[in-house]
Amino acid sequence: MDARQHRAALAALEIIEWVPAAGIPEPALPLIEKGRPVHDQRPAPQTLDQRESSTEELGWEALRARVAACTACELCRGRTQTVFGVGDPRARLVIVGEAPGAEEDRQGEPFVGPAGRLLDEMLRAIGLGREQVYICNILKCRPPNNADPTPAQAAACRPFLARQIALINPQLILAVGRVAAQNLLQVTTPLSRLRGQIHHFATVDPGASLPVWVTYHPAYLLRSPQEKARAWEDLKAVRGLLERPSP
Ligand code: SF4
Repeated sequence: MDARQHRAALAALEIIEWVPAAGIPEPALPLIEKGRPVHDQRPAPQTLDQRESSTEELGWEALRARVAACTACELCRGRTQTVFGVGDPRARLVIVGEAPGAEEDRQGEPFVGPAGRLLDEMLRAIGLGREQVYICNILKCRPPNNADPTPAQAAACRPFLARQIALINPQLILAVGRVAAQNLLQVTTPLSRLRGQIHHFATVDPGASLPVWVTYHPAYLLRSPQEKARAWEDLKAVRGLLERPSP
């Protein structure tokens, strides 16, 4: 990226100075048998263990198909389509957000609309294009009214995210927003205390983990532009971590 492009990206972030060191209602279910309506022809939901073991060998296309057909939580009933993820399957940086919103649900792509454009600018500020990273969410289906994922929904969807990350094996994961960070790291720590330090996402390989950095969600930055300077500090840290030689 040349100096003019870099200035434009910073301007979009409203960073003035480069500081050297970023419920849908349930349908009526009148007849229930063993927890399922008798007229429900869908495959019986799998347990979390079943899904983890059944996803960990999948390649990209099979995983995408598995997600598209998933009925493991109630969010399948309200979606227009699943929002799988987008980007470079060999990316050094994976960005994990919370869940699809209305526009993402319509388009089938994560981080579109104003928050997506700001995310693009944030990436551009550290010399990355959207096509050079991989972007996905904790949940692949839109929660109604943009509700936070419930623990059950997040747990049901986690094997898919874990498999995406395993397939990519990135150098760094950037969790954007409190919900993404807390679900990814399985903690309840406030975002303010998660920022500014390296965390670890345990991979499926015993004892192995990938580094995680945490920053604000672009939608939050649109509502709270005074936090963009802090987000910029996070982005500089991300750039520094990506520039480190791989172990
Ligand atoms: S949110 Fe995840 S677990 Fe729930 S139905 Fe969608 S893909 Fe399946």
